[in-house]
Amino acid sequence: MEFATFAEHAGTIEAETADLETVVHVRDLLSEAATADDGAERGPQTLEIVARFAQGRVFPAWDSTTLDIGPRTCYEAIARAAGTNVRADDVEDRLATVGEIGDVAAGYDFGGQQGLGAFVNGGGGNADDDSDTAGRSDDLAVREVFDVLSDLAAAEGSGSQDRKVALLFGLFNRCSSDEARYLARLVLSEMRIGVGEGTVRDAIADAFDVPVDRVERALQVSNDYGRVARVAKDEGVEGVDAMDLEVGRPVQAMLAQAGTVTDALEEWDEAGVEWKYDGARIQLHYDPFDGSGSGETCVFSRNMEDVTDALPEVVEFAENRLEEPAILDGEVVAVDGDGSPLPFQEVLKRFRRKHDVAKAREDVTVRPVFFDCLHADGADLLEEPLSARHERLRSVLVDSDADADTIDDDDIRGLSLLWQTGDPDEIESIDADALQAGHEGIMLKNPDAAYSPGRRGKHWRKRKPDVETLDCVVTGAEWGEGRRATFLGTFELSVRAGEDLETVGKVATGITDEKLAELTELLEPHVTVEEGQEVDVEPAVVFEVGYEEIQSSPTYSSGYALRFPRFQGVRSDKSPEDADTLERLERLRAQ
Ligand code: ATP
Repeated sequence: MEFATFAEHAGTIEAETADLETVVHVRDLLSEAATADDGAERGPQTLEIVARFAQGRVFPAWDSTTLDIGPRTCYEAIARAAGTNVRADDVEDRLATVGEIGDVAAGYDFGGQQGLGAFVNGGGGNADDDSDTAGRSDDLAVREVFDVLSDLAAAEGSGSQDRKVALLFGLFNRCSSDEARYLARLVLSEMRIGVGEGTVRDAIADAFDVPVDRVERALQVSNDYGRVARVAKDEGVEGVDAMDLEVGRPVQAMLAQAGTVTDALEEWDEAGVEWKYDGARIQLHYDPFDGSGSGETCVFSRNMEDVTDALPEVVEFAENRLEEPAILDGEVVAVDGDGSPLPFQEVLKRFRRKHDVAKAREDVTVRPVFFDCLHADGADLLEEPLSARHERLRSVLVDSDADADTIDDDDIRGLSLLWQTGDPDEIESIDADALQAGHEGIMLKNPDAAYSPGRRGKHWRKRKPDVETLDCVVTGAEWGEGRRATFLGTFELSVRAGEDLETVGKVATGITDEKLAELTELLEPHVTVEEGQEVDVEPAVVFEVGYEEIQSSPTYSSGYALRFPRFQGVRSDKSPEDADTLERLERLRAQ
């Protein structure tokens, strides 16, 4: 297929405004590409290339290869192909006026007839001298564009920028206006012809007669629109159904919506509860049988970049701890000498580091914690419920004879614990433990849900931060138990109602041991009556408290209860007279 044909289709697609019609145009493009006899013994078929080009990609989404071309390199190449009088600055100036690189490139007259020789030599063609051929293509094939861009991506080391300009110049030099428009956009990742992932999915389904949901599944596991198109064409629905995850090819990460404990418990019988680690998402791919002896380990970021070299600790973890091929989803956290988590910014210092990794590792150590298992020992687990995937994760990570029931043990093993409960109090205490251990809080997950790559669905919820807070007077407390026996632990909260104080709930979460010690010191002098573990406290201290909801409730004297109250801090600047009123509580509830 000629690149001019691709450009023509791209023009039609770009001009189309109706979504359904866009799918039809993309289908036509794919169908035509499918008939291209390009003798692709090596590398992808034209169909695969076209399916990616239409989305503005040169390489599949799972492939970390990039062209690594700055805009300036592209402007230089355009300038050189445009003629001796044109400089990169002129291209940039035009861009400032025109606003879009495709239109800028299409505005020049390129050689069109200079041929491959010019580009191989990297030599200077001059379109200005060749007005007869301006705007015409030199039969540039889609495959050639791909091959040259692949060479360009592979160029590295000294002189590579010059080589990139030369290669790109060679392409532009053979372009018509329309080809130049789409080549420039492709090279700068600015295709923007209105072709999203759903469009290509529907077009593949339509072109090769495969049900959309099957195409969708194949796309999820392969992350490669080109390959799915090719398999759909060559092997039909059976081939598409047979596509599986592959160790070494990253999958898009499942994402979370913001949500509340209330929502989670209303929608699911029980919620899966995990700590939310404050680090960076990683996907670990490990294959012990790749023949190299030590196994093959790849680590990918949330955007599917290969970050293996930056995180040797994760590679060592995989080599020491995994024995079967696996794809694991997790988080990498930075830790201090005691293994306590450090802020997210510390992880970033390590995450994409390319040089001096050993030195960086001395300053900040990272540790992986895994919460999901997408593939183990040849079996894809995406369709399995979370609870089953987590069991598999445990068996992949934990030695069969080890006792992994305590958090410490699991932490060492890089396994994030998954609790399953319908009890809000248990969820609160998991949240408190997570905060106490220096993590971000909790994630709530539907234990029955499959893993949906790339989806920000309702099956994973990050606990929403509180929208509003209330300033409440502390009117009572309870002594803690166990290691917290010397601390006041649960605090009764009240709001003002005229001259009186009316209770609205009790807060026990969001408070570290250190803070409990401080609060005990602050409140103990105000204790008036002690009855067993419970104490009355005279109004003196004001807490700022977050909550999920205000409910009517017979339990408290105000007639309302704060659902999931969380301690935010002491309002030492406020006295009980400045605390919030029942009236404000009622107003907030009505909102
Ligand atoms: P977003 O994902 O919404 O764009 P973000 O990247 O800042 O934003 P959050 O939304 O705050 O992340 O939370 C989701 C992220 O939390 C996940 O992508 C993952 O990196 C991290 N995370 C930490 N612990 C877990 C866990 N147990 N399960 C799932 N994700 C977790």
